Amino acid sequence: MAARRHLEGGGGIRLREPAVIPRAPGPSHPEGATASPTAATLVLRGIGQLVTGDPRLPAPGVVTHAILAARGERVVYAGPASGFSGPVAADTVEVDVRGAAVIPGFVDAHTHLVWLGDRAEEFALRAGGVSYEEIARRGGGIRATVRATSAGALDDLVAATRERALRMLCQGTTTLEVKSGYGDGLEAELRQLRAAAAVGSAPDAPDVVATYLPLHGPAEGDRSAHVDAVVREGVAAAAPLASFVDCFCDAQAWSVEECERVLRAGRARGLRPKLHADQRTRSGGAALAARLGAVSADHLEHASDADLAALAAAGVIGVLLPGASLTLGGPPPPGRRLLAAGATVALATDCNPGTCWCERMALMVSLGVALAGLTPAQALVAATAGGAAALGLADRGRLLPGLRCDALVLETGSWLDVAYHLGADPVARVIARGRLAGGGAA
Ligand SMILES: [Zn+2]
Repeated sequence: MAARRHLEGGGGIRLREPAVIPRAPGPSHPEGATASPTAATLVLRGIGQLVTGDPRLPAPGVVTHAILAARGERVVYAGPASGFSGPVAADTVEVDVRGAAVIPGFVDAHTHLVWLGDRAEEFALRAGGVSYEEIARRGGGIRATVRATSAGALDDLVAATRERALRMLCQGTTTLEVKSGYGDGLEAELRQLRAAAAVGSAPDAPDVVATYLPLHGPAEGDRSAHVDAVVREGVAAAAPLASFVDCFCDAQAWSVEECERVLRAGRARGLRPKLHADQRTRSGGAALAARLGAVSADHLEHASDADLAALAAAGVIGVLLPGASLTLGGPPPPGRRLLAAGATVALATDCNPGTCWCERMALMVSLGVALAGLTPAQALVAATAGGAAALGLADRGRLLPGLRCDALVLETGSWLDVAYHLGADPVARVIARGRLAGGGAA
């Protein structure tokens, strides 16, 4: 591929680092290069392949020899270089990306990022053949995370979560969803939501969307009393801190009836429903998500074709978590079947301490192809525009005028490398909200 050869010439991996074009003030400026209320604040030139996600083009909406320009947080131009007429201003940041590909920032629509504690030992035991039940008997499993996370102070939760969120941003995730779900009671759940908000409010962090997940780990004690408390108090207390309410609907976890009560109560408080559905067994979660018109149904490994058709008909986004599928085994995530049913598909990391500690969305794109039957184009769209749809965000996930300028300059000239280069970090530079993340210099 000509573009890749050009970029890899010289052998140095960072040879492809984009360069900020120095601006020489004075009369040599191009026309329009004075301070202007309409001038672009950021211009990326020399883009070999610009993935716009424009649905009017064949997926993923590639424009070659392109320019991407932003004013403030918003894209003002995304198209062929020949069509760009500026204006630019004295303080416009111009970057020559030297033939690199540019894609939208990843939107990771399903993470459990707020946790404390370490389950590495458990991971090794499981790999050595010790059953999850035995690990739970020894005090491990999700209960270990609940204990450690619930005992943590807000500052500890923020510090641990921020470290993971910044690692995600460096690898191209510009928006992520964060769930609660490791609380031993309402106060601990709310503390996790406050930690998520604190992480997302930092100017150098990715955008964070919070989800209240009150029915998560295996039920303990009086489960109906727990559901009653969530319905009576939990959703009202969580509503100012979260956008969504979510439940783990599974034979080993929470029933369709319990989840439905909580999701309906949450919706009455303004929390839009999501659902962990049909991950380990076909337990009716996808059908419930369709019936309620949830924003998304996540996992879906055991959902039937009729379930997927119902999701598509109800406009529910199917969120696939191929990292968890990989580590847990079982049926593959139903990417191709969801698309055949007419549903919109998202890919996400499911980043969590028990089954999938992974911050890298590029790996999920590769696994979306390898495990879920998606084409590279479908997988890339699922990790960007699909993720945005799963969070109800219409202002991002594509690079089109008027949308947020969250973009990734890749290490190579081919967007296909995101899926093709298994396990690699293909991201050279991150642009978040129209600004180069990590400073303006290359
Ligand atoms: Zn999950």
